[in-house]
Amino acid sequence: MRLREGLRVVRRSDTEVQVGTDPRWAVRVTDLTPDEVVALLAADGTPGPSGSDGSSTARRALPAHTPRLRAICDQLVAAQLAEPASEGRSVRGTGTADAHAWDLQDGSGGARLAARGRQVVGVLGLGPTGTTAAVTLAAAGVGTVLVDDARPVRSTDVGASGYRWSDVGRRRDTVVARMVRDAAPRVAVESVQVPDLVVVVEHGATDPVRAADVLATGVPHLSVVVREADVVVGPLVVDGDGPCLRCLDLHRTDADPAWPVVAQGLSRPARDGDEVGVLAGVAGATAAAAALAYLDRREPLAATYEIGLPDALPRRRDWAVHPTCGCTAQST
Ligand SMILES: [Zn+2]
Repeated sequence: MRLREGLRVVRRSDTEVQVGTDPRWAVRVTDLTPDEVVALLAADGTPGPSGSDGSSTARRALPAHTPRLRAICDQLVAAQLAEPASEGRSVRGTGTADAHAWDLQDGSGGARLAARGRQVVGVLGLGPTGTTAAVTLAAAGVGTVLVDDARPVRSTDVGASGYRWSDVGRRRDTVVARMVRDAAPRVAVESVQVPDLVVVVEHGATDPVRAADVLATGVPHLSVVVREADVVVGPLVVDGDGPCLRCLDLHRTDADPAWPVVAQGLSRPARDGDEVGVLAGVAGATAAAAALAYLDRREPLAATYEIGLPDALPRRRDWAVHPTCGCTAQST
């Protein structure tokens, strides 16, 4: 038996150790002898350095050379904190960290990673925010990441999202396809399959024409809108289930009758502003998290996260279906 990968074992006293640090699953093992404390500390589940072949150094087996240690071992297995050595993943690669984290939550890491590998996600709009989302999804094990943005990389795109000065002037989608493959060598960047989800990154406001076109395809889509000093992530729209982008526009029109004219002016013609690095990082990762929540658990996001300067902390705002939109009635 071995502890699940990533679990820490730390000393609490001369007679007690703690297995795990997350309050959702951490346990204390008490009334230990000094030898038992030493033996359990040696089973720390932190992975060692990886070799060039991607394999990790061996995690040490849980001690079971006395009846008391065997009983402790059984209790850790019952608590899903330990597993047979044969079930531990020794190969480390794309999405492995995600799988280990899911293993600790509910033991589903391997199944979820395999499922992600069969998913196709499109990302439209490849400024730093969209680029961060695309690379994060690939690194999390999504099997196919399609990227689309024929515009050139600008000097203001260069930075933490991965664009380099030498990329300036090249097509964004060509550069991001390379970044995606660099992050996940087995990822596909082309497919004839209808995507399971599309992430649409726009500037200023949602383009109502594009929103209607995407809704008409029936493909679930996540809206990301980059504004002057904040980014709005969400909602993740699933046809017939929860508010759509038109619902949000109708709510905004209730509050400001001029909103449709303003939104039209902001979205057509599309004029992308520069994207602040910290906002792009937080918003891109938040978008990737929302996308993975849908891919993993089919949980749509009927809310927006507004991520603004100066703190860049996501603030959630829940949205309801607008009573005059009719989007949920269309498919029920
Ligand atoms: Zn609607």
